[in-house]
Amino acid sequence: MTTDRVVLVTGGNRGIGRAIAERFVSEGYRVAVTARSGEGPEGALTVRADVTDSASLDAAFTEVEEKLGNVEILVANAGITKDTLMLRMSEEDFDAVVGTNLGGSFRVVKRALKGMIRARFGRVILISSVVGLYGSAGQVNYASSKSALVGFARSLTRELGARGITSNVVAPGFIETDMTAELPEETQAEYRKAIPLGRYGSADEVAGVTAWLASDAASYISGAVIPVDGGLGMGH
Ligand code: NDP
Repeated sequence: MTTDRVVLVTGGNRGIGRAIAERFVSEGYRVAVTARSGEGPEGALTVRADVTDSASLDAAFTEVEEKLGNVEILVANAGITKDTLMLRMSEEDFDAVVGTNLGGSFRVVKRALKGMIRARFGRVILISSVVGLYGSAGQVNYASSKSALVGFARSLTRELGARGITSNVVAPGFIETDMTAELPEETQAEYRKAIPLGRYGSADEVAGVTAWLASDAASYISGAVIPVDGGLGMGH
C-alpha cells in the first residue's frame, strides 16, 4: 500500500498545485501544501513558505515532519511568469523567474532529500512546462527555468536512482488557471488553434498524471518528461 505516504506540494493554495493536493487527499495520502497566502484544500495541512527563502522552507518541512512524518513524495509546483520580449527583459525579471522556478525547485528538493535518502525511498516530481522545450516568444526567462528542470531531474536520477529515489518532470501545456487567464484573449485563441486536442487542459488533468507518477505503477520511471499538453509539444 502506498496511499498513506506523505506528500508535500509547493504552491498548493491555488491552480495546478491545489488540484494536485486535492487529488492526493482523495487517494488517501497524508498531504501538506506550502502557501505564501491562502490555504490548501480541505484535508491537507497548510504550512507557510516562500520557495525563494530556504529558512522558511526548512521551517515548513520541520512542521510537516512533526505533524505528518517524513516527506516521501515531493511535488515542486510553485512558479511564476514575468513575460516580456528579450530586448525589454530586465535582469531582475530574468533572475526573479529563474530564482523562483529553478532556484525554488533546487531549494525544496535539497531539503526533501535528507529524509528520502534516510528512508531509501522518494518520488521527486518537478512541474515544468511545454514551453521549456518548445520555446515561447516573450518567455526567455520562464522557458529557460523550465527546460533546466529536465537536466535537474535527469542528473538527480543518476545521482540518487540507486537509493530508491525517482525524479521526473511533468510538462503541462496550456492549463486553465490564473496564470493563463492573464494572457490577452487573442493570444489565448491563437494557442487554442495550435493545440491538436483543440482546448486548454484542466488542472485536474495534470493532477491525475502527477498522482500516477507518485504511485507504485510508476516505480520504474525516472528521468522522464511526461507531457500533459493536448499534443501541443509533440516531437519536442
Ligand atoms: P498559478 O499562478 O495559478 O499559481 C502559482 C502558485 O505558485 C501559487 O500557489 C503561488 O502562491 C505559488 N508561488 C509563486 N511564487 C512562489 C514563491 N516564491 N514561494 C511559494 N509559492 C509561490 O499557477 P499555475 O497553477 O498555473 O502553475 C503552477 C505550476 O505549473 C507553475 O510552476 C507553472 O509554471 C506550471 N505550469 C502552468 C501552466 C498553465 O498553463 N497554467 C502550463 C505549464 C506549466 P501565491 O498564491 O502565494 O502567489
